[in-house]
Amino acid sequence: MFMETYSPEETWELGRKIGEGAKAGTVFALTGDLGAGKTVFSKGMAAGLGVTEHVSSPTFTILQIYEGGKYPFYHFDVYRIGDVSEMEEIGYEDCFYGDGVCLVEWADLVRELLPEHYTEITIAADMEKGFDYRKISLEEH
Ligand code: ADP
Ligand code: MG
Repeated sequence: MFMETYSPEETWELGRKIGEGAKAGTVFALTGDLGAGKTVFSKGMAAGLGVTEHVSSPTFTILQIYEGGKYPFYHFDVYRIGDVSEMEEIGYEDCFYGDGVCLVEWADLVRELLPEHYTEITIAADMEKGFDYRKISLEEH
């Protein structure tokens, strides 16, 4: 299944809708190049979960936890991870197998740690369709 967006706002809105319908315990694995729109999508998802805090890109911390919404929202950005052991150090298992909603930016870098079931969301630009066009694919694993 895939969707197409033509602005950051549309990607944010898609994230919001998916966040609104997300069940506790779901892990969303986001993939896509730098600047694809993973963080835009993540911010929408946080809003959909009812998080009112400002959601920033957690690039330098790997994990940012937002407790204010319907469920805890565990926002990972593993772009700068050196080794998967860093995920163990931050206690990723408590998040992946907990009662919140997890979203992992750059999930392909920690694929071996992903749970048996997760939802993969791939965001891809296509310059032929315009600078702000994105194809957003959803796949259940
Ligand atoms: P990533 O987290 O994947 O590295 P970001 O979400 O931080 O990417 O940045 C995406 C950038 O692309 C933002 O500057 C955003 O304004 C821009 N952009 C343009 N069109 C879109 C779109 N359709 N969806 C999401 N972002 C878009
Ligand atoms: Mg990002």
